[in-house]
Amino acid sequence: QNKIAKLKGQIKSYPDFPKPGILFWDIFSAISDGQTCTLLQGLLVETIRREFPDIQAVVGLESRGFLFSFAVATELGIGCVPVRKRGKLPGEVIAYEYKLEYGTDILEIQKDSVKPGLKCLIIDDLLATGGTVNAAANLLQSCGAEVSGTLVVIELEALNGRSKVPKGVKLHSLIQYA
Ligand code: IMP
Repeated sequence: QNKIAKLKGQIKSYPDFPKPGILFWDIFSAISDGQTCTLLQGLLVETIRREFPDIQAVVGLESRGFLFSFAVATELGIGCVPVRKRGKLPGEVIAYEYKLEYGTDILEIQKDSVKPGLKCLIIDDLLATGGTVNAAANLLQSCGAEVSGTLVVIELEALNGRSKVPKGVKLHSLIQYA
């Protein structure tokens, strides 16, 4: 709990970024400090060992999710798979289209990066409305992967993104803001 409080104290927020009315939580403000990097990596790894002990791969969401997925994958000795926005991954990809406030977006994964039945953990920096995590979970399930859970550093509770995480997919957040 002490460690969580320390991490929380290092994360800055920026009003009206990237648009007026949005309060942006900046994880990079915390990890520019070496001790906080080590602290965060340790917290992520110990959380996975405790909450998601069976996972076989971590799936990082573009783009800050990539940082954390690689950091924990190397420590746990498991694979690290990216989910990216449309058109950024080479080779054969599987796509999933999802609704945004205005219009739609598409997430993609490389076809051979997850095998049917592979137990995956989705990792990202922040859960807001839950739309991104919901789409990533659906994408993975459409590949036959088993989505064991989702781990985020920050959860914005007021936006109730938790309710968008598919049933049976456990969500864990290190830090919550009301
Ligand atoms: P959601 O789909 O509304 O849950 O938004 C989550 C996605 O948007 C994640 O990939 C986050 O990286 C990004 N995001 C939304 N709000 C913030 C923020 O305040 N700080 C950093 N990333 C954010």
